Amino acid sequence: MGKNNISKTKEALKSNPCEKYELAITNYVIGEKIDIPQSELFEHLAKCQSCQGDLRNWRATYATMRAKEYDSRPEVKQKNEAFIKKLVYETKETKRTPIDAKWEIGSAAGKIYNLLKANGEMPIPVICQKTGLKEYHIQQAIGWLAGQEKILLTRDDKTAYASLRG
Ligand SMILES: [Zn+2]
Repeated sequence: MGKNNISKTKEALKSNPCEKYELAITNYVIGEKIDIPQSELFEHLAKCQSCQGDLRNWRATYATMRAKEYDSRPEVKQKNEAFIKKLVYETKETKRTPIDAKWEIGSAAGKIYNLLKANGEMPIPVICQKTGLKEYHIQQAIGWLAGQEKILLTRDDKTAYASLRG
């Protein structure tokens, strides 16, 4: 740097003392090395409203930039889309069809009754497995059979058992 340049820089600094800190502020925000001592930058920031404003603006801009960059990553895009889909799915009213409870529970009860007739007492999880019925149907059917006093329910500390009433 020639003598002329130095004096020019000094003049510029005199006319606008903040100029010196502009680059330092941007570098500080993006996490790059700053070309002046950090303590000097902080000292200036503490007393300069204009540079505080700059710092805030740069931070906001950088945060937006980073967020955009992050959102455009394919794996993030995919995740966001899946999340939105899930939200839409969960909040939209799905098509409902009535359950023919009498028939469904009746036929499940018949299956369970026949299974118990053939095998004697069985743990309820095994009944689920053997009949292939949904838990919802098993519960309803067993409740119904018990209410009709067709089956006897017992339990130990592990599970519940069903058997036909003799
Ligand atoms: Zn300043």
